[in-house]
Amino acid sequence: MEGLMMQQPLRVASLLTHAERHHGSQEIVSRRVEGDIHRYRFVELAQRARRMANALAGLGIKAGDRVGTLAWNGYRHMELYFAVSGSGAVLHTLNPRLHVDQLAYIIDHAEDQVVFFDLTFLPLIEAVAQRVQSPKVFVAMTDRAHMPATHTLPIMLLCYEDLIDSHTQVFDWPPLDENCASSLCYTSGTTGHPKGVLYSHRSTVLHTYAAALPDALNCSARDVILPVVPMFHVNAWGLPYIACMVGAKLVFPGPALDGKSLYELIEAEQVTLSAGVPTVWQGLLRHVGERGTTFTSMRRTVVGGAPCPTAMTAEFQERYRVDVLHAWGMTELSPVGTVCSFKAHQLSLSPQQRYSIQATQGRAVFGIDMKIVDADGSELPWNGISAGDLMVRGPWVTRGYFRSDDAQPLVDGWFPTGDVAKIDPDGFMQITDRSKDVIKSGGEWISSIDIENVACLHPDVATAVCIAAKHPKWDERPLLLIVKKPGRSLDSDELLAFFDGRVAKWWRPDAVVFIDEVPIGATGKVLKNRLRELYQDHYVSAR
Ligand code: ADP
Repeated sequence: MEGLMMQQPLRVASLLTHAERHHGSQEIVSRRVEGDIHRYRFVELAQRARRMANALAGLGIKAGDRVGTLAWNGYRHMELYFAVSGSGAVLHTLNPRLHVDQLAYIIDHAEDQVVFFDLTFLPLIEAVAQRVQSPKVFVAMTDRAHMPATHTLPIMLLCYEDLIDSHTQVFDWPPLDENCASSLCYTSGTTGHPKGVLYSHRSTVLHTYAAALPDALNCSARDVILPVVPMFHVNAWGLPYIACMVGAKLVFPGPALDGKSLYELIEAEQVTLSAGVPTVWQGLLRHVGERGTTFTSMRRTVVGGAPCPTAMTAEFQERYRVDVLHAWGMTELSPVGTVCSFKAHQLSLSPQQRYSIQATQGRAVFGIDMKIVDADGSELPWNGISAGDLMVRGPWVTRGYFRSDDAQPLVDGWFPTGDVAKIDPDGFMQITDRSKDVIKSGGEWISSIDIENVACLHPDVATAVCIAAKHPKWDERPLLLIVKKPGRSLDSDELLAFFDGRVAKWWRPDAVVFIDEVPIGATGKVLKNRLRELYQDHYVSAR
């Protein structure tokens, strides 16, 4: 029909050209693996991304080819985000915390043609290189002076800065179809091989619009954003793209993710918004608490990837005046699905009522449809009580896995998340469990997350994990695994008594096991399945 709008394709490279033109002097600050702090501006990012795009073409990379990265959050990784995707190839971010065999599997499954890596990962890449067939070139993300003197890589090793220096910055981003692939991220399922989720230019740009909105991650040109969530994990929740769209300053922490290093960077660069998983924030809060100091600029932090305990929300907000944005997402959702920001009528609620809202993962951002269903697939009401399997659909939700022979995951066009959730009449969704973590006691479900939240409120508890342990009478009963704060003398009876009045009687765990530490997986989350393997017979063997 005449008089309609232009059909401008949505492309990743457009985010960069926008940032260069409209926010060219905005800064990107990176702590490098070389140990120093590097800073430059969006205009230089764009110039170097174009040089790298020319270099990729020189290496024979064609549209659709996969290019791997094994790197921390930093400016060179950001350059690859745009050089690779912008030129039509597929950026495949690799998680260095995976086992070497899994990494090798993923690289070959994706047929990565080139793999870029940070110097920290030379030993890992040497081990991986012995096991893979696909890559034709490795590139160390450093300059000539820091190139490794020796290595055991069986194929060519190039130097990142040499590639940049030997190519011009004249490059026209190709007019790609918005539905072609831009990046690839494997999700580490608990069973079988990791599965690849392939994002498109269109899905990435739409996700960027949605995730930047005020009631989502709330990002603007006045923000200084610190993505602690790694760029190898679902594109750092989209923050590198968002920063380009809105013109925010970016601060990259490199490999230093301990509380002290993060705190120093936050203060030095006057970060206003950070994002990461609860385990990272625990380290940060411990450091700031021990030093008796505070945050002078940080006003918001996005907590996601795992439930944010109310105790953590309260500490951030009451002690430091840092608002917590509790968010839920998945690799399969690019990742943002819901974010917890208040509606107007909730602002006048009591602090306790507001904390119970903040314990939810929040409302769906526009673009994500969600529903909860029972075992027969029938939709359940949004009454804040009924819990069922959470299903989602939307333009940045995957419809299948990359090169997967498995049955396609969708059920009538909906993606089953594997999470169990309830939704209240205001549309606030709360994950009560992963379907495999839920505790089925005598045919009724107990939420392991609710139990953990209560345990975390006890002042002597550092970390709480609740698992389903086999039970001769009830099939399963909750078992609580606790890491105490240093020097505390908490015992089981005291902790179990703490549950009285806080949860239904039959939800109270039957026992507590004190442990020294919890196993943490590749994306910074507690490995519940490993703990389940160790302790699931606790009630059976205790008899
Ligand atoms: P990410 O860790 O970025 O969210 P993954 O694909 O690794 O992505 O993991 C997704 C799963 O993590 C979800 O299905 C859900 O079980 C869990 N998860 C993510 N965010 C939250 C949250 N805020 N609260 C509870 N669970 C969460």
